[in-house]
Amino acid sequence: MKLGQDIIIVATKNKGKVREFEHAFALLGKQVKSMFDYPDLPEVIEDGHTFVENALKKAKMVGDALGFPVLADDSGLCVEALDGRPGVYSARYAGENATDQENNEKLLQELEQLKQGEDTEQTLLSPASFNCALVLYNPSSGEHMETFGTVSGWITSDVAGAGGFGYDPLFYVPEYEKTMAELSLEEKQSISHRGIALRELIDRLQR
Ligand code: IMP
Repeated sequence: MKLGQDIIIVATKNKGKVREFEHAFALLGKQVKSMFDYPDLPEVIEDGHTFVENALKKAKMVGDALGFPVLADDSGLCVEALDGRPGVYSARYAGENATDQENNEKLLQELEQLKQGEDTEQTLLSPASFNCALVLYNPSSGEHMETFGTVSGWITSDVAGAGGFGYDPLFYVPEYEKTMAELSLEEKQSISHRGIALRELIDRLQR
């Protein structure tokens, strides 16, 4: 299985993800195209129960429609105190078309409600993890490759940082004593769920 020539097609319309893929693939001399470059493709309904199922569905639908190899990412946040939610519903936790800020506010409100009556000085609300499934699918051969990455941290009420996207401002990374949104792109890539899954994918392709 190969990544294709100089262009990698990523089945996403998430600008934050696009930025991270562009950064990672630029280091390999490859240019990224996303669903912003193919606006006429139909929206993929993400109805899988796992990140892998959704990533596979996105990669296959877009790959078959375009006739080129496609990389898909399905990712999200799993919060221990919420029994793993929002999980595969991370992008639409506060409703269809919810903004990152609306999703973040809903998550914090839920956790703060759970913590009512407990130590109010405590800013670390619950252990959590970011998870990312990547699937590279080649429509010519029908083959696909899956990788997975996860990073552990805490949900903090001490929201901080302007980098990244999604839940990054409220995801505290103990190793850096900062939120994910306070890390540089390089730092985030070096520890993140997406960075881990991407390095494994590239490694396996180069073997
Ligand atoms: P997907 O497009 O269905 O994979 O949704 C991914 C959602 O998970 C995003 O919209 C974010 O809310 C969240 N998410 C995934 N990766 C990250 C990340 O690296 N930082 C912050 N939030 C993320």
